[in-house]
Amino acid sequence: MNGLPTVPVEALMDQEQLLAEHKQLCQIMYELTRKKCENCGDCCFPEACEQTRIELDRRKVIYPIGEDSTFLFRGNSGCVLEPWMRPTCVIHICDSFLKDLEFRKQYLKLRKKIDTLHSIMDEKGMF
Ligand code: SF4
Ligand code: SF4
Repeated sequence: MNGLPTVPVEALMDQEQLLAEHKQLCQIMYELTRKKCENCGDCCFPEACEQTRIELDRRKVIYPIGEDSTFLFRGNSGCVLEPWMRPTCVIHICDSFLKDLEFRKQYLKLRKKIDTLHSIMDEKGMF
C-alpha cells in the first residue's frame, strides 16, 4: 500500500471496452442467478418492461418485442431481451437466496463489479 487512492481498472477503459465489459458481466450475472430463478419470473412487472424500453430507446439500442399482451418483453420462454439490455432486471435476486453463503459471496462480488462499472458508465453519459 502506497497510500494513493485506487482507481478501478474500468475507469481506464474506453466506451467500447466498457460496453463489452457490461455485456460480459450481465451475462455472468444472468448465468449465476438463473440457477436460482429457473423459470420463475415473479419479479417481472409491466412497469419494469416499460422502464427498460425507455432506457433502451434513450441509448438507441434496437431490441426485440415479446408475444405477451401485458409484458412488452415477455416471450414464450421468458424475457426476450439479452441480459445486458435489461441490467436493472438482471441484477435483481430474492433476498432469501442470499442465505446460501456460497451464492451470496459470488453474487455480492459480481454485484459490486457491476455497480462500479455502471457508475463509471453513468459518469461518461453512457446510461
Ligand atoms: S424486461 Fe424482461 S426481465 Fe425485465 S420485467 Fe420485463 S420481461 Fe421481466
Ligand atoms: S428473483 Fe425471485 S421472484 Fe425474481 S425470478 Fe428469481 S426467484 Fe423469481
